[in-house]
Amino acid sequence: MAEKAENVKCLIIGSGPAGYTAAIYASRADLKPVMYTGLEPGGQLTTTTEVDNFPGYPEGIDGPALMMDLQKQAERFGTQVRMGMVTKVELSKEHGGVHKAIVDDKHEIHAESIIIATGATAKYLGLPSEQRLRGGGVSACAVCDGFFYKGQDVAIVGGGDTAAEEATYLANICSKVTMLVRKGEMRASKAMQHRVNSTKNLEVRYYTEIEEVLGDQVVEGIRVFNNETGEKEVIPVTGLFIAIGHKPNTEIFKGQLTMDETGYIQTDGKSTKTNVPGVFASGDVQDKVYRQAITAAGTGCMAALDAERYLAAVESKEEVEA
Ligand code: NDP
Repeated sequence: MAEKAENVKCLIIGSGPAGYTAAIYASRADLKPVMYTGLEPGGQLTTTTEVDNFPGYPEGIDGPALMMDLQKQAERFGTQVRMGMVTKVELSKEHGGVHKAIVDDKHEIHAESIIIATGATAKYLGLPSEQRLRGGGVSACAVCDGFFYKGQDVAIVGGGDTAAEEATYLANICSKVTMLVRKGEMRASKAMQHRVNSTKNLEVRYYTEIEEVLGDQVVEGIRVFNNETGEKEVIPVTGLFIAIGHKPNTEIFKGQLTMDETGYIQTDGKSTKTNVPGVFASGDVQDKVYRQAITAAGTGCMAALDAERYLAAVESKEEVEA
């Protein structure tokens, strides 16, 4: 690592709606943010097609087009958007301390503040047929894509709170929802289970797993099997929703930031402050409940405002001490 470290006032890690909104606010506040996009520039929305629920787009917008617009808006105010992956961080516990970040294992950055917006990654079953039909009827977000299956039959996999919530959401839109739970019981809260069980057009199949997603270009059905009896069956559906959990992208912060038992970064009260001064977390990396582009954008804005206030407080303290 021969090259000299670069000093940055505000480093933004991640380029989804949270990262770009933080960048828009931080650059307008003259924090001269530098953003590293990560491996999936634009984040999870770049893998969706139509986004119909982001306010301001009455006709809907393509996920990648929305992210390009957000990038342009951030760059218009001076954000430096760079391709690259932050591979290591060394966070200072001191108020006003400098945080080190290493990009792509070589470039060293010294940041006065960091906004983490690294998001979360939806888990998939890992079946080749499922991967092939992603975007062709297989989705990991019922709230984003459920509308496209209005009046149709769909299936959802998972037995946790997300699956239960999304199954009842889908039941409002679709004619029939089949929920596939691999065990003999759901992991979801009793209240959510009650909601599921009292929804008429929602059928729960226990001990049931998917063997193959059927269809060439689009989903036409699923072949399922009962993992107790081995019995197989084809269920005709046009949409398949996977709701088996998300993994927050927090590996590089482990041991340095307070996280919950599933690895989501914990923030202080209604703010985006982490347990380390000058480090803020926004978007799905700190939210396992709402997980929407617009809520991520909202917390991105909050993170930039929190960072601005923090840097102003550090500067005024330095002035008092000087
Ligand atoms: P969870 O990890 O709670 O549940 C995942 C579910 O998917 C489990 O039923 C699990 O089955 C199943 N699953 C995992 N892998 C597979 C697989 N390969 N094949 C089939 N099924 C599989 O994830 P959630 O996203 O539901 O929830 C995450 C957290 O967020 C939880 O703490 C939840 O309470 C919280 N949450 C809260 C909400 C709220 O308060 N409104 C809304 C949404 C989430 P198994 O049980 O067999 O392991």
